[in-house]
Amino acid sequence: MASKTLVTCALPYANGPIHLGHLVEHIQTDIYVRALRSTGEDVLFICADDTHGAPIELNARKQGLTPEAFIAQWFEEHTAVFRDFGISHDHFGSTNSPENQHYANLIYGRARDAGSIGKKEVEQPYDEKEKRWLSDRFIRGTCPNCGTKDQYGDACENCNATYTPRELIDARSAISGEPLVWRKSLHAFFLLSKHGEFLEQTIANPAFMNPGPAAQLKGFLDKLADWDITRDGPYFGFPIPGESNQFFYVWLDAPIGYIGSTEQWAKKTGRQPSALAYWDANADARIIHTIGKDIVYFHCLFWPAVLKVAGLKQPEHVHIHGHLTVNGEKMSKSRGTFINARPYLDLLDPSYLRFFYGSLLGDGPEDIDFNLLEFRQRVNAELVNNLGNLANRCLTLLAKEFQGQLKAPTPELGRPLVEAALAKVAPIREAFLSFQSKVAVKHVLEIGYAANQFLATNEPWKKLKDPATRDAAHAQLSEAAEIVFLLTALLEPVVPALAQKLATQLNRSPLTFKALETATYPLLERTQVIGQPSPLINRLEAEVVDRLIQAVNVEPKAPAVVKPPEAKAPVEIEFTDFTRLSLKAGKVLACEKVPKADLLLKVTVDLGEGAPRTIVSGIAASYAPEALVGRNVVVVANLKPRTLKGLESRGMILTAGGAGKSLVLLDPGDVAPGTDVK
Ligand SMILES: [Zn+2]
Repeated sequence: MASKTLVTCALPYANGPIHLGHLVEHIQTDIYVRALRSTGEDVLFICADDTHGAPIELNARKQGLTPEAFIAQWFEEHTAVFRDFGISHDHFGSTNSPENQHYANLIYGRARDAGSIGKKEVEQPYDEKEKRWLSDRFIRGTCPNCGTKDQYGDACENCNATYTPRELIDARSAISGEPLVWRKSLHAFFLLSKHGEFLEQTIANPAFMNPGPAAQLKGFLDKLADWDITRDGPYFGFPIPGESNQFFYVWLDAPIGYIGSTEQWAKKTGRQPSALAYWDANADARIIHTIGKDIVYFHCLFWPAVLKVAGLKQPEHVHIHGHLTVNGEKMSKSRGTFINARPYLDLLDPSYLRFFYGSLLGDGPEDIDFNLLEFRQRVNAELVNNLGNLANRCLTLLAKEFQGQLKAPTPELGRPLVEAALAKVAPIREAFLSFQSKVAVKHVLEIGYAANQFLATNEPWKKLKDPATRDAAHAQLSEAAEIVFLLTALLEPVVPALAQKLATQLNRSPLTFKALETATYPLLERTQVIGQPSPLINRLEAEVVDRLIQAVNVEPKAPAVVKPPEAKAPVEIEFTDFTRLSLKAGKVLACEKVPKADLLLKVTVDLGEGAPRTIVSGIAASYAPEALVGRNVVVVANLKPRTLKGLESRGMILTAGGAGKSLVLLDPGDVAPGTDVK
């Protein structure tokens, strides 16, 4: 086995915020990486932002930003979210880096020298006014299947038909509105068809990938199409060496970003001379990729072939996970179930989500469901009541009744309890190391139940008053504390913050899978006192989950192309529900733009309370800041404070109209600030 392991997550696109769907992958991979590290393996966890391509270039332009400034915003958002969720990337880089360009050029040159690059003339749609080539997403027209107007160049959102831009009726540039012109250009292709046999062998190896998605890929092998890796400028990407105004297609340099980001890490830390310590075909290393099932084609066909012709290391395993649904349905902005990571973090502890995902995720490509009821129930029953209460009951009584001192081992009492738990350590470790955290979590919960049962049977809390039984209580609590100590290793991959908290409360360093390889009863050195206990984690209340959903619904949305929300009948509410709202008239005293948030204004409103309030409102596309000053507005005054772009917002200003540019402020008329609105 190789002496070191490199693990990657797929690179998030630097075109929008991280959402709970991205976190399925990052949490699952982080669990795997943390478990590997705990066994003592040399692991490097690499990720980066995927930054190139037409969507980024055009969205940057819409915001009046350079592509570099645009991706820098998202880099900041992405890295902050991953940090707050405890994702332990060793390096999170960017594909728009000199290191990545170096490897893109190197790989292209090697592929060309190996005879795997060919040239072919292609005819593509062109926008004469904008002087640019148009990808399918920048073409709009009428669906040839159902006749719905204003559909993309490749697929209809109404009837789901797929087609080519040539088939689209009245096809036009989505940028200028001009009709399409078809023009020819000479493109470089990666000759994938030369590698059919190699790819057939690669994907047939069950150690390489799950047989389910592999069977789907097999269908492509008979008709392997050469891959157009060229995009004509203007394009945000790396220029193709030796060509004029042509760039590498983003999907060529995106996976190369794994290598470029490894190179950045090597330079930053000096721990390896270059990325080739991992990526050279002969490097003493193994590569593990984690990806979603939507990008299997790129990672299991193109990527192995590209690596092969470039003389680079093949991935040992590509782990493929499913997608996230919310309450059984695809995440949807219009249904208010599209949950971004930052609004989650503003309200909920990241350990809840890590635990819930960890308890659901296996090694297959099945979707997992963020069912909000199950989320709350399982967090409360398993994390709070089982594991949290075990620790809290036992450590609190030891601290309060015995000054934190542990009793010397009582083997006849403790050994059976601890050895039964230790017998589960190997299956738990193996489950973590095969992406089966749900199996690991199940075993950990069984250990917790057994220890709780041990306490419930012995009832040490009833024996504290009587000097005759007090010693027995001390022994029982001290033996149960062994299991709490064991949890510092077993919980660490899933909820690292909580494992650390338990270790601190025990006044010990956390255990590791490596230490547990040789561990025997007793695990705790009993002469060392424990630390200060406190509840492990709070219960997850329904009201907090409701607030998350509300926050998601009112979160200002950033896309420049605003689509009307799906019409749906509002649910009926009780009159008492309505009376819970406190609506008040307010006067705007001051207003300014929120940096790096195009739709947000920071509004200072007098609600007749003495001190004015700050409200962050998503109306910047409809009102200039100076147009608001002096106006009377209607405010939902009893919303709990929320944080938007780092600003605390207290209340919400009511508007009428759709999202985007057409919002109209509700006017309460000429009344004093603080007047009730009913
Ligand atoms: Zn259609």
